[in-house]
Amino acid sequence: MKLPASGSCQCGAVTYTLSAEPLFTYACHCHTCQKRTGSACAVALVVPLEGLAIEGELVTLERVSDKGEINRRFSCAECGSVIHGVGAASPALSKLQSGTLDDSSEVEPEVHMWTRSRQRWISLAPGVPQYETQPEDLTELLQASLDYRQSRAQA
Ligand SMILES: [Zn+2]
Ligand SMILES: [Zn+2]
Repeated sequence: MKLPASGSCQCGAVTYTLSAEPLFTYACHCHTCQKRTGSACAVALVVPLEGLAIEGELVTLERVSDKGEINRRFSCAECGSVIHGVGAASPALSKLQSGTLDDSSEVEPEVHMWTRSRQRWISLAPGVPQYETQPEDLTELLQASLDYRQSRAQA
């Protein structure tokens, strides 16, 4: 994707600039993400937190994960749009919600998690890595998505 990339919440009170290359992009089909987004799945870009400059007032919400870790998500204080999240397991990484980008046309999941609760009308790209649940380790997701990216580049 073209960098720097800009984005905002729904109302525009929060804006941001992403200047770092995303590590990978995932779609999560778990029930929690379905509840949180009110939608079929969550699509997020994993980016280095230091490459994300946010302006405007954010509200921080905390959620204790199944593993007992505190995950934080940051929403616009005015309209409530979730901009990004930071998990305790990877505090230097942000999960930037793809729909907040001003141009998300280039964004495509490179790995799918929790496909066992995927809504059946969502079809996945051929060959895209998928996990019934999710791997313990973030590096496994990273590796799977990099392999997929490479295989697409060669095709
Ligand atoms: Zn807003
Ligand atoms: Zn999820």
